[in-house]
Amino acid sequence: MAILEIRNLVASIEGQRILNGVDLVVRGGETHAIMGPNGTGKSTLAAIVMGHPRYRIEAGDILLDGESILDLKVDQRSRKGLFLAMQNPIEVPGVTNFDFVKTAVSARLQADEHLRIGKFILRFEAAAKALNMGEGLSHRFLNQGFSGGEKKRNEILQMSLINPKIAFLDEIDSGLDVDALKLVGEYVTNMKSPELGLILITHYERLLDYLTADHVHIMIKGRIVKSGGAELIRKIDTEGYDWLKAELGIDELEEQKIQYSLGSCAAKTLSPGDKL
Ligand code: ADP
Ligand code: MG
Repeated sequence: MAILEIRNLVASIEGQRILNGVDLVVRGGETHAIMGPNGTGKSTLAAIVMGHPRYRIEAGDILLDGESILDLKVDQRSRKGLFLAMQNPIEVPGVTNFDFVKTAVSARLQADEHLRIGKFILRFEAAAKALNMGEGLSHRFLNQGFSGGEKKRNEILQMSLINPKIAFLDEIDSGLDVDALKLVGEYVTNMKSPELGLILITHYERLLDYLTADHVHIMIKGRIVKSGGAELIRKIDTEGYDWLKAELGIDELEEQKIQYSLGSCAAKTLSPGDKL
C-alpha cells in the first residue's frame, strides 16, 4: 500500500510564491478531495508532486513510501506509481492515443516482463467502451481535436491502463455534462482499491455525488486551511468560501489589493475604504 506524504511544501514560480506550506498525507485506499477557489494553488500542487520542472521548491519535502522524491524526474515519479489526470491535457500531434498509452504501460514493466499486446488491446478497447469514447479513438493523435469532455475521459482511460498507486485527478469534472460526469464518477469508483490513493481536485460538489471522498481539504492561498469529511463539501456548496475566510481572518481587501495591482500593473495601491 502506497503512502504519499507532502510536508510543509513551499514553492514558487517566476519569483511568485504559490504554495505556502502544504501538508497532506494520502494512503492507498483513501480518496481525498481538495477544494478551493480559483488560483489558489491546487493544480500547482499536483504539478509539483509530479515533478514539473518550472517550479522552485523553497522548503518542505514530498515522500512516496517513506522516500523523498524531490530529486526524481517526472518519468521516474510516474514509474514509482504517481499519476496526474491533467486539468488541461495537452495535444500531441503525431503520436496516436494507443501508442502513447502502450509506451507508458511498457515503460513500467520489469526487465523480465513484456507487454502482451493482444491482452492490452482488449483492455484498451474495453476501457474506451466503458468510458463511451467512441470508435477510432486508438488511432487518433493524442487529444488532438478531442472535445473538452473527451480529453478528460481520455485521462481516465490512461489512468485505468497505467494502474497508478497515487493519482491526482485535476478537475476531471470540468467539460463533462451530467451524463458523462456520472459515467466517469462511476468508472473511477470501480477503480477504487486498497492499492490506489486518489486525490480529487474540484471546484464543485457535483463530481463528489458520483465519486465519494472520505477526506476533504480546503485550500486557500497556497495552504490547506481546513480538513474534514463530506460535510465540508455541502457547506462549501451552499455557502462558498467566505465563511472560511472570515473564520480564518483572511483579509478580503488585502486580496483585492493584490489582484488590483497585479491586474492593472499600476503602482497605485488601495487603502481601506477605497472603491475598486
Ligand atoms: P488553481 O488550480 O487552484 O486554480 P493554480 O495552481 O493553477 O490554481 O494557480 C495558482 C497561482 O499560480 C495562480 O495565481 C496562477 O496565476 C499562478 N501560476 C500558475 N502557473 C503559473 C506560471 N506558469 N507562471 C506564473 N504564474 C503561474
Ligand atoms: Mg487548477
